[in-house]
Amino acid sequence: MQFFYWNASFEIGIPLIDAQHRRLVDLINDLATAITEGGRLPEVGALLQELRDYSAKHFADEEGIMDTTLLSEGEKARHRRAHTGFVKKVEEIARRDDLLSTDVSEQVLEFLITWLVSHILGSDRKISRALASPAAPEEAGGAVPSVEQVLINALGETERRFRLISDYTPAMIWVCDPAGSRSYVNRSWSSFVGADAPHDDGSGHVHPEDRTAYRARIRRLLEQPTSDEIEYRLRKADGSHGWVLERILPRWDSGQVFMGLIASAIDITAIKKSEEILSRANRELEEEVARRTAELERLMLTDPLTGIGNRRRLIEHIAGAVERACRSGRPLTAVFLDLDHFKRVNDAYGHPIGDRLLARVAGTLRANLRSCDVVCRYGGEEFVVVLEETSLLDALRTAERLRTAIARIRLREMDAAVSVSAGIAQWEPGQSIDGFLAQADKALYRAKADGRDRCVATTAL
Ligand code: GH3
Ligand code: MG
Ligand code: MG
Repeated sequence: MQFFYWNASFEIGIPLIDAQHRRLVDLINDLATAITEGGRLPEVGALLQELRDYSAKHFADEEGIMDTTLLSEGEKARHRRAHTGFVKKVEEIARRDDLLSTDVSEQVLEFLITWLVSHILGSDRKISRALASPAAPEEAGGAVPSVEQVLINALGETERRFRLISDYTPAMIWVCDPAGSRSYVNRSWSSFVGADAPHDDGSGHVHPEDRTAYRARIRRLLEQPTSDEIEYRLRKADGSHGWVLERILPRWDSGQVFMGLIASAIDITAIKKSEEILSRANRELEEEVARRTAELERLMLTDPLTGIGNRRRLIEHIAGAVERACRSGRPLTAVFLDLDHFKRVNDAYGHPIGDRLLARVAGTLRANLRSCDVVCRYGGEEFVVVLEETSLLDALRTAERLRTAIARIRLREMDAAVSVSAGIAQWEPGQSIDGFLAQADKALYRAKADGRDRCVATTAL
């Protein structure tokens, strides 16, 4: 989209008129902005109306000044006709309903800018010359710079402005031609990388890990010009790498011919570093939460006195074991163990000794089982062992082994041995977990009833 930047070269030396010309340029640029930024027709129409009203007012002021000069009547009439023509043209434009089409808006803006510049540099300068040399206004043009000279000065000023901005901005700017070769880099870019403009695409300064992707992005932009944003690491003068965020735009000449790219980058190393610190802190926090959650879960499933699983752990485990037995068709058995006359231990030696005995029993059970077998403290002095892929007969053998091992336990403080009774049951397909455990409990009851210190299976083997 065509924009026009006012500079001092266009001033004719009459402050009121120069200020009004500036305002006209601003209005035209507002129009270009509205169209570029996808403004709607009513908004663009209102700007055109404003342009029409303001130019009419400006022309009236200018003609008032012109009338005080000795310019010829013919010249004055020509100038007035030019003004009327412009206002009419703006009115015509305002009536169009295809203003938002790119071709039409380009043409309109080009007309407005071209008319204004040529009118200022042609007709309007004659007024200021006439004011400066009232005696011979028509011939007084000798000392005044030519239109070409004014335009060249304007170009020079624009270029100086660009250099000044680009050399003193902290952003790193580069410009490349349509082949990707860098034709300009600003001071920030040079001092960041510690080198002058490269003769190639400049990607040699990009971090080796980012280089291929960077080159590919630039190549794509050169083939299909569009704007883009890239984050990558750029080598600094000291050899270290800094993160930069680079915004790249295509450059077009007034004839819409692709001229290459222009890019502006900022150093985002500090932002990247703080992002990294933040995400590391987040990760550490998540790990700590996961660790504590796991620890809480473990505590929730552990019996604090004996260190083996508690009843919650048993229920959780047995549900999985039943599912596995269901799938595999292999036998699943449970052994209920209950210390005999444990109350007497407490009564004879005290509760703390009873506690120590319970811990020893748990350790003994654990030590006499496979690592895949699960033993839990079901309550008080009751323990349950879950044996997967174990037949009732094998479970009975295991229970016997456990009973013998417990009978061998000796505590310094106790002069008698302790015995245990056990009930063994095998899970039957379709049976509930409660039903399964109740079966084992029933067998235990029988073991107690039969005189304790023995193992009894649900069915006679
Ligand atoms: P039985 O042979 O019929 O099982 O007799 P018993 O005395 O072992 O069974 P009973 O159910 O009558 O008593 C169990 C005792 O276990 C009573 C209770 O004080 C004790 N007990 C339960 N939990 C704990 C514990 O955590 N520590 C100690 N020291 N004793 C406990
Ligand atoms: Mg004029
Ligand atoms: Mg007991």
